[in-house]
Amino acid sequence: MNNHFREQAIDALADPQLRDNFRGAMDFLRAKRQSAFTDTEALKQLRALGHKIKANTLARLPDLLEQLEQNCLQNGIQVHWAETPEQACEVIHNIISAQNGQLAVKGKSMVSEEVGLNHYLEKRGIESLESDMGEYIVQLANETPSHIIMPAIHKSKEQIAHLFEDKIEGVDYTDNVDELIGTGRQILREKFSQADVGISGVNFAVAETGTLCLVENEGNGRMCTTVPSTHIAITGIEKVVATLDDIPPLLSLLTRSATGQNISTYFNMISSPRKTGEKDGPQSVHLVLLDNGRSRMYQDENLQQTLRCIRCGACMNHCPVYSRIGGHAYGTVYPGPIGQVVMPQIDGLDKQGEMTEGCSLNGACGEVCPVEIPLPNLIRKLREQKSAKPDGHALTPGAGSQRKPKEAFAWSLWQTLYGQPWLYRFVTKMATRLRHASPRAIGGWTRYRTAPKPAPKSLHELMSQRAEANQTDGASK
Ligand code: SF4
Repeated sequence: MNNHFREQAIDALADPQLRDNFRGAMDFLRAKRQSAFTDTEALKQLRALGHKIKANTLARLPDLLEQLEQNCLQNGIQVHWAETPEQACEVIHNIISAQNGQLAVKGKSMVSEEVGLNHYLEKRGIESLESDMGEYIVQLANETPSHIIMPAIHKSKEQIAHLFEDKIEGVDYTDNVDELIGTGRQILREKFSQADVGISGVNFAVAETGTLCLVENEGNGRMCTTVPSTHIAITGIEKVVATLDDIPPLLSLLTRSATGQNISTYFNMISSPRKTGEKDGPQSVHLVLLDNGRSRMYQDENLQQTLRCIRCGACMNHCPVYSRIGGHAYGTVYPGPIGQVVMPQIDGLDKQGEMTEGCSLNGACGEVCPVEIPLPNLIRKLREQKSAKPDGHALTPGAGSQRKPKEAFAWSLWQTLYGQPWLYRFVTKMATRLRHASPRAIGGWTRYRTAPKPAPKSLHELMSQRAEANQTDGASK
């Protein structure tokens, strides 16, 4: 399916409630991150360490994946490889069917969103219930997450209150957040005890020990991975790390960048199914490792950097485009800057290339990324690839886009002006004098922006005036 980013972004901009919800949430998350990183030098060192750990991991990715598989098998965790979303869903469906399972409870997992797991299972008669509160709200509303960490961030508490009142039998309207969470918890608690299977994501998979690490705040992840008799973990192949020593810096970067917490409320380490004599834990544990285009990203020296992502969401929270239009406008599982880099590589530039244009290249995402992914460079590279697709419209250096004659003309004009200093001075002086006659609308550019107006004096004039004033001052002393 081709994405319609442009139309969806325009619709989002016209929704004042949505903009209000995002503005408040993004301000809050940015402030939380800032308060978690008060020492800029320490942050710099930690980011450099995070970058190094992930870069070293990528350099040994095939070996580490083999090591992870061997150690998981040794621990009694069954490992499944899935090249495509369909394969991942099929593997999970087969595991559930083998035990006649009817109900799966799910912890938060963006990879399960990526493969469309809920939909796949529901089509085959298996209920797949989200247990993360944000995901539960989104599932109840029949929507998709709008943020990778805070799935229901696009909704206000009043909207959630109406949703609960409409969709949950016997629940009256209340916008008291504690009561709303209490309602959700009560429903989910019963489901945990009835579920045949628990499904979770994985934040880090440790190759040297065969350990699956899960970061969460609500305790639902621990319930999913310990109460049902079977636990299925699904993750992308890039989530592997070499050693347990790699975890503390990455965990610190993840929680502080995502929610401003020094550490999350829960940090689960799963190294095997329940052992003899243990009081809880599943009888069997499965790990599904998904490729879905990641091997292809790995082939490109530059785009490979995408695989360093630890899915903290900070790039979205700081993106001026995302924070105005929200996640649904992108129409993809991963929105915002990381989505603009990941999705065109997974689905192809022909389907998702348009979203690379929803970026002002302001650089904020790259500056906050805890593992120093150069997101603006990668977005620009993908844009270039999109423009250079073999459709006969390659860019002509120095002449702007040949596809858009107006742009090409504007750039040639700019080139001529810049090449002739006297002409540049003359035109800028004239522009300052005629500033009141400058156009108020410049096509689509001014639909959401104010048209720029020339300053009352050009920079050259200001500098000449300053030089003259200095001379006069000097002469009078
Ligand atoms: S690209 Fe960086 S900032 Fe964005 S989600 Fe990934 S790790 Fe976080």
